[in-house]
Amino acid sequence: MTAAASTKRRIAIAVSAIAALALLASPLPAAASSSAAQSAPMAGKSKAAKTVTKTPAKATTKASAARTRAAAAVAAADYSSIFATQQPALTNSGWATCAVAITWSVDTDGLSADEAATQIANLTWAFDQWTQGSGLAFQYAGTENLAYDDAAFSLKPANGSALQSRHVYLAFVADSDSARLGGGTVGLGSPSQVWPSTKEIITGAAVFRTDHVKQASTREDKSLYMHELGHVLGLAHASETSNIMYPVVSDHTDLGAGDVNGVRSMNKPCKAAA
Ligand SMILES: [Zn+2]
Repeated sequence: MTAAASTKRRIAIAVSAIAALALLASPLPAAASSSAAQSAPMAGKSKAAKTVTKTPAKATTKASAARTRAAAAVAAADYSSIFATQQPALTNSGWATCAVAITWSVDTDGLSADEAATQIANLTWAFDQWTQGSGLAFQYAGTENLAYDDAAFSLKPANGSALQSRHVYLAFVADSDSARLGGGTVGLGSPSQVWPSTKEIITGAAVFRTDHVKQASTREDKSLYMHELGHVLGLAHASETSNIMYPVVSDHTDLGAGDVNGVRSMNKPCKAAA
């Protein structure tokens, strides 16, 4: 893209849907509270499906099949736009499905070289899951020194250069460097700029709490990355545990039907002249 084109594109407005996002609960203390939170509603559901004791066996089977279909339909419809409540004019903003990949870079400050390599692999894996679910293409562009503004929730190149279009900025941030992270909040993600006339998201950002990432399991890290990337792609929280946008951290690493339906419904056609 030419400099002129990218200048024009910067008319895109900066967005701040972040306040709604600081909700991904951490599994602290340890994994116990998160697995309790996760398994309680699930146990409740499966019991409800099985305790139809006064109905003939056939009817029970039919009823539970119907309930299974109903539950699947509920999960599939379980998505919403991150802008729906805070910036309604931008509801259902999404990324454009261009063949040219959306690029991403990451600031691995606070991680050792080995830890950084591991987390870049986990992030690549998380982007791949979204590629399969969303039809959007992503490409790793390398590590980058980024400046994080916690109050504004923005990540920008530390060298002062402009934000790149169709790019996702990621960073590992110490608990002590963020009022937003900490306590139960281990990650945050949001679109950063949207082209208002077309509702095309053109930049996004996510941060991950360094101490949490280091002590969590690989599956928990992957799950966290998938969740925050879902926000970057325009999704708000879901209420079904089968969706990755369910706001409690877990070791769940499969996109749910609502995640896939949601992002696909928000994707925008590619209008790039390139
Ligand atoms: Zn979240």
